[in-house]
Amino acid sequence: MIGATHAAIGALAGIGIKGTTASIGAGVIGSLLPDVDKKNTTIGNWLGFLALPFRLIFKHRGGTHTLLSCLLFSSIFFIIFKDLFLTLSFFAGFFLHLLADGFTATGVKPFLPFSDYKIFELPKWATFKVNGHKEYLLLVVLILGLAMGGLK
Ligand SMILES: [Zn+2]
Repeated sequence: MIGATHAAIGALAGIGIKGTTASIGAGVIGSLLPDVDKKNTTIGNWLGFLALPFRLIFKHRGGTHTLLSCLLFSSIFFIIFKDLFLTLSFFAGFFLHLLADGFTATGVKPFLPFSDYKIFELPKWATFKVNGHKEYLLLVVLILGLAMGGLK
């Protein structure tokens, strides 16, 4: 999925968990971070050369797209910010990134390095093509959800 879709999902997670600007930001950062393993992604562009080690060590949707990395990065986030709700927002954004990527044709293997099991191996007709029509429809729904969340 593209960065805007992940960011919208992360923002909704942050709204749902606490609804503060900080929790929304934590959700967005968590939702974008797994794609640090790929060139020309939103987070990769934000981090610049700091993203390079992740691209060199992990192939796309490999080590940064696992439950283990979700727990590891969330733990680091908690150590830095020492706030449970912010960390929950970050964790939810990260976790939902894994789920969302699971709906694409490539899928994800969240149990690496322990298992090669792929989640949500949907029938081909049901998968989302990254940057495809179904993803943009989902993005519109998410943006409407964000707009409604901002109205409460
Ligand atoms: Zn991803």
